[in-house]
Amino acid sequence: MGLIVQKFGGTSVGSVDKIQNAANRVIEEKNRGNDVVVVVSAMGKTTDQLVGMAKEITSSPSKREMDMLLTTGEQVTISLLSMALISKGHPAVSMTGWQAGVETEEIHGNARILNIDSDKIQKEIQQGKIVIVAGFQGATSEGEITTLGRGGSDTTAVALAAALKADKCDIYTDVTGVFTTDPRYIKNARKLLSVSYDEMLELANLGAGVLHPRAVEFAKNYGVSLEVRSSMEKEQGTTIEEEVKMEQNLVVRGVAFEDEITRVSVIGLPSSLGGLSTIFSALANDHINVDIIIQSMTEGETSSLSFSIKNEDLTETVKVLERNRDQLQYDRIEWESGLAKVSIVGSGMISNPGVAAEMFDVLAQNEILVKMVSTSEIKVSAVVEQVKMLPAVEVLHDAFQLSANSVKA
Ligand code: ADP
Ligand code: ASP
Ligand code: MG
Repeated sequence: MGLIVQKFGGTSVGSVDKIQNAANRVIEEKNRGNDVVVVVSAMGKTTDQLVGMAKEITSSPSKREMDMLLTTGEQVTISLLSMALISKGHPAVSMTGWQAGVETEEIHGNARILNIDSDKIQKEIQQGKIVIVAGFQGATSEGEITTLGRGGSDTTAVALAAALKADKCDIYTDVTGVFTTDPRYIKNARKLLSVSYDEMLELANLGAGVLHPRAVEFAKNYGVSLEVRSSMEKEQGTTIEEEVKMEQNLVVRGVAFEDEITRVSVIGLPSSLGGLSTIFSALANDHINVDIIIQSMTEGETSSLSFSIKNEDLTETVKVLERNRDQLQYDRIEWESGLAKVSIVGSGMISNPGVAAEMFDVLAQNEILVKMVSTSEIKVSAVVEQVKMLPAVEVLHDAFQLSANSVKA
């Protein structure tokens, strides 16, 4: 007899019928002789609707009150799923994140899990109960309610699986697994049978919304065996694990993308030792996430710097740069919005030089201009115009032979 953590995302619990379906999947697992802990998200688009209501009241709601509001979404689902299980004859008990012992940092809106005190859950399991935990939420040591960032229920599930030393963590969602790219946009995307933790971490960080990046981080750090699978179809999903059994010798395993990117350029920066540190410390203090950074060669006395940010951070970024203008002494700032980032990911790249060259060649042949580039051992990212994002994904997906019809699956 083992212990399985199951997580059901928003779409998979989006109606009473879907909650009944989730309850049946839980019971199937229980009937296989396993103890089950279930983590759920808010029903359907509930979280978006709650955010919308707050925005109708104020454009800058208090982060503490936002957490208080958003955590109600998951609480609706835990109680309904628990009722469904009890009425089907299976003892169950629901728990909020803080009842389940999820302790987080003192940050509202995007807190990290620091610790899980799983005693209460363990006691209920010992009494034969199915425990249903609200995802995406926790509390600080002072008892303040926090959330883990959008999509954070995945992280609750994997962190609980680690804390409870579960045999497996199954992420039930609205697709049948992790695909070579987002199947909602690219019709011939192909399901992968397995992906390594590192590849999945890159894909998730680079925009593949199927898993919360911190969930993958937890899974890697604690060796949690993770499977992404469909809540509706019974077929096998995608296993995320340390070493991937190579399905085939493909260097690139997936294409991820992210829109709403702005490139900011600071032109005519006097060459000084502290300039870069001043800029990026000031942006970090304002919690502005900077992604790709490019510094041009110093021409005479000055240099230029470009970096990419999310569109939503532009106003604040410009304010920070202007506030520091006296110290930085740059000539001017320019920016370009309407950009997107397209990335190819695969651990085979480490030993295959020339992958980046091939990517740029394919983009050039398709008249897609690359505005910024960033690479790591297992990914290459290119910033392109947002209108070219999906065409770029499509041609790269084909060029690197990822399509369903380009391999014998
Ligand atoms: P949940 O509510 O179950 O957490 P999400 O919407 O967060 O579901 O994640 C599932 C979605 O992730 C899919 O519907 C799909 O559009 C998107 N997605 C993005 N990239 C990928 C990918 N590489 N493979 C599978 N799904 C992906
Ligand atoms: N309900 C939260 C969200 O919509 C958390 C989650 O679904 O994982 O972001
Ligand atoms: Mg999700």
